[in-house]
Amino acid sequence: MNEESPAPASSKHFLEQWIEGDVLAGRTGGKVVTRFPPEPNGYLHIGHAKAICVDFGMAKKFGGECHLRLDDTNPSKESDEFAENIKTDIRWLGFDWGGHFYSAADYFDTMYAIAENLVKAGQAYVCFLSQEEWKKHRGIPTEPGIPSPWRDTPPEENLARFREMRDGKYKDGECCLRAKIDMASPNIHFRDPVIYRIMHVSHYHLGDKWCVYPMYDFAHPIEDALEGVTHSMCTLEFEVHRPLYDWVVDRMDEMGLLVERGGMKIRPHQREFSRLNITYTVMSKRKLHELVDLGKVSGWDDPRMPTLCGMRRRGYPAAAVRAFCEGVGVTKFISTTDVGILEQAVREELNKTAPRRMAVLDPVKLVIDNMPEGETHECDAVNNPEDPAAGTRKVRFGRELWVERADFMKDPPKKFYRLAVGREVRLKYACLFTCTGVVEDAAGNVAEIHGTWDPASLGGNAPDGHAVRGTIHWVDAATAVPLPVRLYDRLFQVENPDADADRDFKDFLNPDSCKEATALCEPALQGAKSADGPVQFERLGYFFPDPVDSKDGAPVFNRTSTLRDSWAKIAKK
Ligand code: ATP
Ligand code: MG
Repeated sequence: MNEESPAPASSKHFLEQWIEGDVLAGRTGGKVVTRFPPEPNGYLHIGHAKAICVDFGMAKKFGGECHLRLDDTNPSKESDEFAENIKTDIRWLGFDWGGHFYSAADYFDTMYAIAENLVKAGQAYVCFLSQEEWKKHRGIPTEPGIPSPWRDTPPEENLARFREMRDGKYKDGECCLRAKIDMASPNIHFRDPVIYRIMHVSHYHLGDKWCVYPMYDFAHPIEDALEGVTHSMCTLEFEVHRPLYDWVVDRMDEMGLLVERGGMKIRPHQREFSRLNITYTVMSKRKLHELVDLGKVSGWDDPRMPTLCGMRRRGYPAAAVRAFCEGVGVTKFISTTDVGILEQAVREELNKTAPRRMAVLDPVKLVIDNMPEGETHECDAVNNPEDPAAGTRKVRFGRELWVERADFMKDPPKKFYRLAVGREVRLKYACLFTCTGVVEDAAGNVAEIHGTWDPASLGGNAPDGHAVRGTIHWVDAATAVPLPVRLYDRLFQVENPDADADRDFKDFLNPDSCKEATALCEPALQGAKSADGPVQFERLGYFFPDPVDSKDGAPVFNRTSTLRDSWAKIAKK
């Protein structure tokens, strides 16, 4: 699509319309500012990619900026390893936060000061109810809750208790700081929510500076407001938290903490869109952790994982991931997207870009009986039919070739246009070949396919112009290079591994999701490098030199994708 041409109004999703309205009404202080707030407690997955495309994409569309802000408010599971990989993944996806990299921890001093202000203003109190007691007090949406016995503690006393919390006088969970809002609100999250909790856990950057940490619902609006974020987009589960978000922003406004830009106070606003769910995988970080920790996969970057590093290692192009995220759109409907749509986006992108090469996965020998031993020929093979600029390469062949076992049939149906005794096929780019017979081993398996070629058909065309329907790929037996391949497939066997509440999602792992094999390859493939991206093995699929296990001159190929959706057929049956 032409970037210059304005999209028709109907194609703008609701968040784009929302932002556009604010821009036109002059409510952004001259700049749209969004943010992406991942927690550094795991690797980013395809669901995050959708949020990244929305957050960074909207900022880009309106000429603004998107901040990358680590939500490191829960130190128990956070680490630099995760933080660094988040950055790598976002850059790989093609987005840039410029100089705007922040962490929630940058604001802990300010957050604590705001909390003290709330305490002094009688808008927050230290509560000593246990979690269970609190659940009873909070009650159910249809009936007002029961106020905590600590709700009316005088501010000076609360301030003393809160400082004691900060100074480590209490154990984890012994007490917490609650915002004093509305115990009768039909919105449970508005009933005196916790805004600070005690956690005697070292922070991965701040060490033991703090033993109290702000809750996400308190921290997030503060971060947004302090950074001058205009549009804060998140997933639907936060919709019910929005009144609390606004409440915190109101308090900051009262404290004079909203930033000014373009002569106006910038007040952040939150909107929510539906999460991306896709079939045949799981996306909860807890479950992804479990797969890694139990060794069900080789790591976060296992090519079968729904993580961005896994997809990258598998050979998924970033452009395909972006195109997929664009395609699924932004709505408020809860739905699950067929993973086949992602795989199709990968094929469409690679079809345009991947060089073609020949390799045979399940080889059987083919002998051209009327070619003398030692004779060789060269043919020109097209590097990418979708890209004329990619040119051609010379491929050598001689009397003995490898072809795919499945390209021969003993008793073929009429419409089998490949190899069978008495039939003619085109050996791609090379020549026409007529099969005259086979040699079988003791078990009755085809050991060699014999036949003759027409030297006048060198290059692959019939000299008299007659039609040859079948074209098969091959590699020259004398020069073929055996290279390791990993035939990846979907990690789970069922559409929704979480569907059955009585079974563990791991029961549905696909035992055939990674098969190791050896491909007999044309020599050019020996020089394949991951930096050059995936290649297409003609008629077999897209393969990517594994960036970790490949060595110079010794690639290990990951199957990125087959050429067709073999699961669609299975689903139909
Ligand atoms: P989990 O629920 O597995 O712990 P999370 O959503 O808490 O994951 P975060 O690191 O907090 O993970 O997510 C960062 C941002 O990415 C959030 O704004 C969140 O809304 C968004 N996000 C996470 N998962 C998805 C998804 N499946 N689809 C769209 N956005 C997502
Ligand atoms: Mg989160």
